[in-house]
Amino acid sequence: MSANPSLRSLLSSSSLPANEARILLAYVLEKHYQLPRSALLSRDDMTLNDLAQTEWQSIEQRRLNGEPVAYILGKKGFHNIELSVAPGVLIPRPETELLVEIALGEIAKLNKPVKILDLGTGSGAIALAVASASPESSLLATDQSEVALAIAMQNAKSLKLTDRVQFAHGSWYQAIPEDSAFDIILSNPPYIADQDPHLAQGDLRFEPVSALTDKASGLTCLEEIIFGADQYLKPGGLIAVEHGFDQAKAVVALMTKAGLKDPKIHLDLAGHSRVSSARKSN
Ligand code: GLN
Repeated sequence: MSANPSLRSLLSSSSLPANEARILLAYVLEKHYQLPRSALLSRDDMTLNDLAQTEWQSIEQRRLNGEPVAYILGKKGFHNIELSVAPGVLIPRPETELLVEIALGEIAKLNKPVKILDLGTGSGAIALAVASASPESSLLATDQSEVALAIAMQNAKSLKLTDRVQFAHGSWYQAIPEDSAFDIILSNPPYIADQDPHLAQGDLRFEPVSALTDKASGLTCLEEIIFGADQYLKPGGLIAVEHGFDQAKAVVALMTKAGLKDPKIHLDLAGHSRVSSARKSN
C-alpha cells in the first residue's frame, strides 16, 4: 500500500494558492496517468505513485520559488490558440489579445487577403492567433532571438499554420526585405523602463530581459518601430503597438511626429491604455 497522501490532502496541504495547486497537480495527473483535470474531484482519494509524487513535490517547489506556471507547464493559452512556451520567450499576456482583436477588426474591414507584419513575435502569439482566426491573412513574424524563433516556428507547425505564417530573423525592420509592404504592422515590443522595479518581481524575473525592457526609457523600441512604419506600410495601412499603461500619450506623440494619421488609444480589459494605433496616409 502506498504511503503517499491522497490528491485531496496534497491540495489542502499545499502552500500554493488553491487554483495554482490544482492546475499543477492536474498536469502531474495528465502526464503520469493520462487522467483529465476532473480526476482531482472524481478520484480525490487517489494516491500518486512515488515517481509522480516526487514530480509533484519538485513542481510545487519550483512554483514556490517563483517560476511562472506557464514555464512549468510548457504552454499557455492565448486568444483562441495554445502555445508552447519556454524561458526563451515572453509568456503571452491576456492584454496582448487586444492587438489581435484590432488586427481582426481591420481584416474584416479590408475584406480581401491581408499582409501583416508582427515585429518581435516571441512565442509567435500575435501572428499565430491572427492567422488562426483569419484565413484571409498571411503574416511575417520577426524576432532577433533565434531561441524565440525556434519556439515560434514549432508553434506554427503544431497549429498547422506554416503555409500562412513566415518567420524572419533580425532586429525590427532589419529582419525584412526593404521593399516589403504590409496592410498592418503589429508589435508588442519591450517597453518597460530600465529601472522599473517590476522587472525584479513575480514572473518577470524568469522571462527574457530583452523581451521586457529596452534598457532605457521604455520608449526606444516603440520609437524605432513607429518611425519605420511609413516605409513598410501600404497607403492607408494600420500600425498598432502595445505599450505600458502610462505610455499612451508619448506613443501617440511619436506617431504624430512620424507623420502617421488618425492616432487612436485602445483600452485593455482592465481599462488601461494598452495599445495605440495610427495609419499611413492614403
Ligand atoms: N506586458 C508585460 C508586462 O508588463 C510587458 C511586456 C512587454 O514589455 N512587451 O509584464
